[in-house]
This record gives sequence, structure tokens and C-alpha cells, in this order.
Amino acid sequence: MEQTKRNSSPEWLKKVAQNEGIDPDLITKLVAKGEVVVFRNNLRNNDFEPKAIGKMVSTKINANIGTSADYVNVEEEVEKALTARKYGADAIMDLSTGGDIDDIRRKIIKSVNIPVGTVPIYQAAREAKVVVDMDADDFFRVVDKQAKDAVDFMTIHAGVNWTSIERLKRSGRLLGVVSRGGAITIGWMLHNEMENPYYENFDYLLELLKEFDVAISLGDAFRPGCIHDAGDRVKFTEFILLGELVERCREEGVQSIVEGPGHVPLNEIETAVRAMKSLTRDAPLYLLGPIVTDIASGYDHIASAIGAAIAGMYGADFLCYVTPSEHLALPTVEDVREGVIASKIAAHAIDLIKEGQSNRTEEKDFLMSVARKNLDWETQFKLSIDPDKARKVWERRKSKSESCSICGDLCAIKLVKEAFGDESETTCF
Ligand code: SF4
Repeated sequence: MEQTKRNSSPEWLKKVAQNEGIDPDLITKLVAKGEVVVFRNNLRNNDFEPKAIGKMVSTKINANIGTSADYVNVEEEVEKALTARKYGADAIMDLSTGGDIDDIRRKIIKSVNIPVGTVPIYQAAREAKVVVDMDADDFFRVVDKQAKDAVDFMTIHAGVNWTSIERLKRSGRLLGVVSRGGAITIGWMLHNEMENPYYENFDYLLELLKEFDVAISLGDAFRPGCIHDAGDRVKFTEFILLGELVERCREEGVQSIVEGPGHVPLNEIETAVRAMKSLTRDAPLYLLGPIVTDIASGYDHIASAIGAAIAGMYGADFLCYVTPSEHLALPTVEDVREGVIASKIAAHAIDLIKEGQSNRTEEKDFLMSVARKNLDWETQFKLSIDPDKARKVWERRKSKSESCSICGDLCAIKLVKEAFGDESETTCF
């Protein structure tokens, strides 16, 4: 960030600009302002694919994986990382809280060449015999250790302080706090009657992150966990605090993004996103949800993709996928695939209207329409977000004609083409 503030940029950032189809000088300016953040720990080598999040660049997707105390299978977590990568995830977060957490994280980092994020307090809490027995140093020790392992971004719930806890107590929330990192921090503060170490010693935290160019994802500890709690004062208190922390990050040359907004009904998404963007001075927004209804168990990836697409219209930049297992169980490999695909659809829909990306995104949809007009199935599969599934569905009930089995020989596209005498194939954009 400091380099871009001097109006210069490393070679790899120019490559990022090229991949995004935008001017290298523009990306340099946006990184300097903090409106674009690029995930890349400075221990990464040339094989690594840094990812840019924010204004003008394409909407990115994160896939959360990781063990829990109930279920530890390292090979499966690595398979989840590879599956997420295969279907288009731009980043992986390792949220492991079970087994050998260092070993799992290192294996995941080795298995994919895209950014990996963590929530360090999970490991600090797991390593303490009793969570509330952690001392303040433990909060930072794990940050340092994970940064040295080349973790590229970390979620840190630095926006939790006594003011927000007092407001929470008076809020009348139904579900209180649903953020794991937030709950650990609050539990620790109340038990020890101490301020949140990440909030109190934020400058020290920034020093640790800066040494390895680790980006901070300012955690949304007070995101509403149900529609009933959406849009309350606790949430907006945190937005204000996160906005202040973003400013300090920018002054210190540490890249920052902000997380939010949780469960939100459709009619409140615009307000939530615009408020976050305004209070954080256009920091890239890492979207958690928004989950637009509480009753979609088993299909929460769809509830979340609906919210994500709407949030994207108002400025969301980075979508944290949700899987069909949300609220129910640790996801399987198949859940990971479905979660990534659902987010990918939302991200593409956002990019169709996003400044800086709409032209090249539109081209893909145009080419798909041409392939549909030409009944060119192979090209349709190739252009699909999930080519394997598209082919499988087409083949399982194949038409006797050249069209598909929905209309068969009464294929509207074919009939109209014949009626207009248009036998030519459209191929150009
Ligand atoms: S058969 Fe019907 S659904 Fe299938 S390609 Fe033709 S018009 Fe479309």
C-alpha cells in the first residue's frame, strides 16, 4: 500500500490489472486509496495468484472450509479447497478448530495457489484449555504465527469494545451474537473485565500484519443472525467503529476490508450496504450473506445468493459463499461445490452491471445467446458456470431432434428460424 501511495507498483500488481482488464495506473491509485485491496502475503512466490477486491475489479468469491471439534478429516478439507478452486473460488478461508490446526492450514496453503485467509482467534481459543483463560498475548501470538505461514488475509474482530457490548445488552436482540469470533471475544472480555486486546492494541496488531503484507478483514461480530435482529443500533455501532479502524489501517499502510451484514430482509439490503460503504469510506465490502430469509435450511446457498446479488448492485465486492449445510452441519465436498456455484452466479450477475467489468462480462452472456440461437450445445456447456452439470442435465433426457427435450420438434428457436428463412449462424460479438 505504501508503494502504491508513492505512485509506483510491483510487477505482480500490473499483472493483476491485466487480468482484471483495467489500467495498471488506475489499480495503483485504487490500492493507494484503500478502495481496492490485493491479497498477497509477501512470502508468496511467483506461482501465486494474487486477487484484487473492490472498485472496478471483478466480484470475488471466498469459500470457507476447515475442521471442527466434532469432525476432523484433513484430506477432506484439502479436497474441499481443491473443489472450491476448481469451480471458481478466488480465496479460501481455513476456519479449522479441530485437530492439528497448524498442519491443516499449511496443507491447505500448499494445495492451492490462491489467497488463504484465517480467523486467528479460533486457534488461540482452541489452544487455551479454557477460552477465557487466554491472555492478551495469545490474541497476537497466533496472528504472528499464521502470518509467517503466508496467510494472506485475516478476520479480526477488532470492532468489539465495551461501548458495543453495552449497546448489545440493551438491544433486545433475539439471537444476540452469532459470530464465533465475536462471541469468543465478548466472552473473554466479560469474564476478564478487560477491553478487547485487538481494539486496545490495534496499532501493535497492524505492525504484525504489516510485516508480511497481510490484509485485515475487519470482522462483523454484531451481524444480525436472523431477520428479527436486522438493522438494529448494535449493527450500526459496529459499522462506525469499523470505519474508524479502516482509517487507522490506511494511515499505517495496512490493507483493510470490512465484513457484513448478516441476515437482512430484501428491503434493508440497500441501506445496509450503502451505510457500510459510506462509514468505511468505500473500503471493499466482504459480504456475509445477506441471508434474506431464516427458513431456507438446506437451501441457504440460494437465500444467500439472492441477497448477494442485490447487495452487489449497491457495492458489495467479495462474496463469502454459503453452502446448503449452513446452520445445520459442517459442509461436505459436494456442499462446497454447490456453495461456490451459487456465489458464482451472484458474482457474475453483479459483474454484468459493475463499472469496469460490465463490458467483458456481457460478452460471455452474448456468446451464450449466440450458442443458444445456433443450438450449439457444446459451446453452451463450455460457457456454463458448471459445464459438467449442464451436460449431465441435457444428456439425461436427450431430444430426438437437434434441440432439447423441453419442446422437442416444436423447438421455438428452430421454428422461428425456419419461418424467417434464417439459416445463417450468428458468431460475432
Ligand atoms: S426445445 Fe425449447 S427449450 Fe429447448 S432449445 Fe428449443 S426452444 Fe429452447
